[in-house]
Amino acid sequence: MEELRNILQHQKSSPIEISIKGQRIGRDNLTIIAGPCTIENYPDLKEIAVQLKARGIALFRGGTYKMRTSPYDFQGLGMEGLKIIKRVSDETGMISVSEIVSSEDVKAMSNHVDILQVGTRNMHNYRLLNHLGKISNPIILKRGMSSTIQEWLLAAEHILAGGNPNVILCERGIRTYENFTRNTLDISAVPLVKELSNLPIIVDPSHSSGRRFMIKSLSFAAIAAGADGLIIETHSRPDTAICDASQTIDFPVLDEILAGIPQLLPLWSKHR
Ligand code: PEP
Ligand code: MN
Repeated sequence: MEELRNILQHQKSSPIEISIKGQRIGRDNLTIIAGPCTIENYPDLKEIAVQLKARGIALFRGGTYKMRTSPYDFQGLGMEGLKIIKRVSDETGMISVSEIVSSEDVKAMSNHVDILQVGTRNMHNYRLLNHLGKISNPIILKRGMSSTIQEWLLAAEHILAGGNPNVILCERGIRTYENFTRNTLDISAVPLVKELSNLPIIVDPSHSSGRRFMIKSLSFAAIAAGADGLIIETHSRPDTAICDASQTIDFPVLDEILAGIPQLLPLWSKHR
């Protein structure tokens, strides 16, 4: 433990709180990010964002460059999606989150999106991480699906060492022998990261499970374990979602999660 702490030169200073457009992430703030896996069109993203805002949620997600396992699946709207997410963010005043998949998109993405996400498949793309160290947008760094905690924290170090201190870690499930779920949520990552690093850590119950019926339980587990937030795939009509429908929840389920949070806050607070 101590040895790794010493290698993580940028992660052992005082607790980090990331501030963006008046919202604070980490420390005493529980951050909820929700929205579709992929941006499908302007009206649907706007409708989702408005619904989220009405629930007091300030951050919304939506992918536009998608890292799909099959080249025959929908690959995202690309630049058109970037324009849509920026428009919705400008119109609602909400903070946008979208995945960056390539170094060549850094300029366009950092101009159109508030928080850039590095997906599980790119956690080891050090050239991309180095580029993200040169910008100031907060970066959500997802854990590689087969990565150890040490590899993940060192990947974060690549961004931090480059000069961008605004890194948020995201546990999104790892590969195990279990195949009923898409991945296995490694809830132990939450206390472990808190012990080793000062970076905020959020949990993605959607990609962790791949199963809609599990999202509420995993969200509650993450909060009870002390996570700094959740990122949840949410859609007004999840059955019609182009991407990741089976793990995407609707607003009534999101409401159940939001309603449960106050009961968990005494537990969550013990980790602060
Ligand atoms: C996503 O959040 O849209 C995504 C693709 O996640 P992951 O990289 O964790 O699979
Ligand atoms: Mn998805």
